[in-house]
Amino acid sequence: MIGFGYDIHRLAPGRKLMLGGVAIPFEKGPVAHSDGDVLVHALCDALLGAAALGDIGKHFPDSAPEFKGVSSLDLLHRVVELVHEKNYVIINVDVTVVLERPKIGPHVLQMTETLAPVLQLSTGRVSIKATTNEGFGGIGAGEAIAAFAVAQIEPAVSPHS
Ligand code: MG
Repeated sequence: MIGFGYDIHRLAPGRKLMLGGVAIPFEKGPVAHSDGDVLVHALCDALLGAAALGDIGKHFPDSAPEFKGVSSLDLLHRVVELVHEKNYVIINVDVTVVLERPKIGPHVLQMTETLAPVLQLSTGRVSIKATTNEGFGGIGAGEAIAAFAVAQIEPAVSPHS
């Protein structure tokens, strides 16, 4: 089974840029109720989508005070639990981040090594890529950051089957 996720956040000066659970040095960061980690949010939605469990907003509503400033990695932990509780195992994930600046390449290894244990996957099953928006629109103007993710899951094999 496959799931797809998408997220976008507006960028503003003086906010911390969290991406894939890693703090990236930059002069802008996402405006968000949580830490605004678009990569992790897209990944959560892909995993929830694969298991037909709704979306991140359903499980962690923006209106709930307990999720204000929450680490998106904590949300991902919970999403992985939900997927496992529905008796699925995660096979692999693939994410593309769309942003103009900064360059993400130097941080991809750290993101992969941060996310793989949360997903209970080897790093070879966690793919993170980035592209610019070629100067188009709000993302191209550096006013926003977006991410697309897909996740594949499979029913866990029961010891009795
Ligand atoms: Mg988000």
